[in-house]
Amino acid sequence: MAQPSMFKEQSADVVIRSSDGVDFWLHKVILSLASPIFKDMFSLPRSQDADRETVEVTEIAKTMEDLLRFCYPMRDPELLPLNRLSNVLGAAKKYEIEFVVTGLKTRLRSFVSSDAMRVYCIAYKYEDAELAQAAAEHLMMRNLSLYDFNSNPPPEFSQLPITALAKLIAYRERCTIVATAALMDDEWMITGFDKHDRLRLSIKRKVIAGPTTWVWLSCSSCNEGTVDISVRFPGHSKRYSIRPRQWWQSYRDAVVRELSLFPGPLSSVPSHEPLIRSAVAGAQRCFSCGHKAAAELSEYAEGVGKRIRESVLKVKIDFPFKAADRRGTKKHGCKGPGLSHRRIADHPRSLRLVEHPVTDPLSEVFTT
Ligand SMILES: [Zn+2]
Repeated sequence: MAQPSMFKEQSADVVIRSSDGVDFWLHKVILSLASPIFKDMFSLPRSQDADRETVEVTEIAKTMEDLLRFCYPMRDPELLPLNRLSNVLGAAKKYEIEFVVTGLKTRLRSFVSSDAMRVYCIAYKYEDAELAQAAAEHLMMRNLSLYDFNSNPPPEFSQLPITALAKLIAYRERCTIVATAALMDDEWMITGFDKHDRLRLSIKRKVIAGPTTWVWLSCSSCNEGTVDISVRFPGHSKRYSIRPRQWWQSYRDAVVRELSLFPGPLSSVPSHEPLIRSAVAGAQRCFSCGHKAAAELSEYAEGVGKRIRESVLKVKIDFPFKAADRRGTKKHGCKGPGLSHRRIADHPRSLRLVEHPVTDPLSEVFTT
């Protein structure tokens, strides 16, 4: 039987046999210090008719080798590709080797910018809500269609419940709703920019603009739109209305439409060049709006884009495994995933650890 060269110490007192039949000669004390699962296992009595106990595991040799290199006093594996990283993370979680899990998640995080969808899938598979959220946020920040994986889907797709993708789609929809609400916040448009006069109320209770109020609110020369903006003034319980110019209303309508369709970051939609260009062209037909529209609209678009970004960052996915994560941090020396004490008792010299499939309640699909 093949034996990896780096794990063949004669002082070994246990043999771990991988699913593809490779033996690792190891030391119970090291495995017990690293893993409460192995510690529990080795604390059980066994028969004395063999020099070394043999433990069969369901991991392939490459995964066990990667895992053991983290546990033994030797150099950690460098630059693990995502496939191996995913496999060894799964094994580290199964055997509750917390320091390896933590280190691997840090490595996994470094792939977020280059392969956010894979990281999302792996984080979902191994129930890391924080990392899955970070990957989901990155997915929202670049040109990506969630339906773009027909020809080359991430391998984890076949291992994940449909909930995983549904959560991502629901998250995008929720971000769009939040972004639209930020855009439609008229109060903020009027009060959120120090450089621009706020609207005031005249003695005759008429809403009036100052010299630097947004031009689409101060102009009275070109066509007005059809939708009022509602304004509240300090000391007044009643709200008052003002109607922006038509060209600006068309711009904002276009931004709302684009927020639902745009394949990139939502925060960049207000500054999307075709939308700005079209709005400014409309404003050029008015003498009053024409000379201010380009600069003011760009300033507004940048400001509202920043506000959208801040709002969207507050949206969090409600993963179904949050509670399981919290429980997991308190496990010590208990029965871990895939370890049956009964089966250990039945097979004291040749232990097989059985993985239980993870299931997700479909009822939680749309709670994002
Ligand atoms: Zn005008």
